[in-house]
Amino acid sequence: MYQAMNKLYELVEKLYKTSSLSLDEYKFLIDNRDEKSTELLKNYAVLMRKKYYGNKVFVRGLIEVSNVCKNDCYYCGIRKSNNNCNRYRLSKEDILSCCKEGYELGFRTSVLQGGEDGALSDEVLCDLVSSIKSNHPDCAVTLSLGERSYESYQKLYDSGADRYLLRHETADSTHYSKLHPENLTLSNRIECLHNLKKIGFQVGCGFMVGSPYQTTENIAKDLKFIEDFSPHMCGIGPFIPHKDTVFKNEKAGDAQLCCYLLSIVRLIKPNILLPATTALGTVKSDGREKGILSGANVVMPNLSPLSVRKKYSLYDGKISTGEESAQSLSKLKKSMTSIGYEVVTDRGDIANKE
Ligand code: SAM
Repeated sequence: MYQAMNKLYELVEKLYKTSSLSLDEYKFLIDNRDEKSTELLKNYAVLMRKKYYGNKVFVRGLIEVSNVCKNDCYYCGIRKSNNNCNRYRLSKEDILSCCKEGYELGFRTSVLQGGEDGALSDEVLCDLVSSIKSNHPDCAVTLSLGERSYESYQKLYDSGADRYLLRHETADSTHYSKLHPENLTLSNRIECLHNLKKIGFQVGCGFMVGSPYQTTENIAKDLKFIEDFSPHMCGIGPFIPHKDTVFKNEKAGDAQLCCYLLSIVRLIKPNILLPATTALGTVKSDGREKGILSGANVVMPNLSPLSVRKKYSLYDGKISTGEESAQSLSKLKKSMTSIGYEVVTDRGDIANKE
């Protein structure tokens, strides 16, 4: 027992010093998590985050552009076969007005997220991205619109998009196949991530904590993938069941484990852009603050028109009118100040390493 404890704390030290562990070591770190290892990881993660970002918290305005999706991911509330989902697609004017509102509130990054909606063609998206960039040349545009061809990503990049978020969801292909129908594969997801990086995007991967069938070994693989792929951003949030999905009776992921993993990811890539996600704020009322205190440095308040927020329902109970919303930015600023952090008006690009 004593030896196991020593090994646990030694692994924390090793990760802090080398930013790398073996698969077995990651697994050990997760399986034997205790209060002391949590504190140690958290302290090192905060130290690292402060080294690159001081006490700054970056905000991104999240615009949920469409909940139409051709995919049928078993966990997701906007999956194609959910007939109870009230579908919508924002117009170009709607989206530009969200960006303008965000700009006035102090946001310098707009994140356009949506389902894989066939109407969001390259032509439509490139026109949208270049309009946003010409209206707000000092802002970054992040896209999170799923898997597309190399040529499509290239066009989006050429039209001015700066970043792309595409969670890998799980780095284990067997686990991947338990979360997705056959036509969706881990190899294609990973290929997309590599293509995005090659093209020049700042790229974000990520996964859900506590997704059905997830084992510690799976999470260890996720961490090793993050170490090897070295993304600019990483979205990690708890899985939360949605009543109209295959996984409606599964339990939600654990917020504490999620925070523990945020600390680990901060140590794997000390200058990474790491959001405290809306899902974390949904499973725990002070989840986003806890995420920041565990090493995260980004929050993504919702800028979508109020009329569609409830319709972009990925999981049950998604917070959508409280402090996560852009209009309540002043509340968010206060809550960040109360824990010693400052929300800044900044594009919030990744810091250079040394
Ligand atoms: N279609 C794009 C894609 O595939 O990346 C972006 C939209 S997708 C809905 C955004 C993310 O929501 C997914 O990567 C997934 O991790 C997360 N998500 C979906 N359903 C969820 C659930 N039930 N609980 C927590 N997160 C979920």
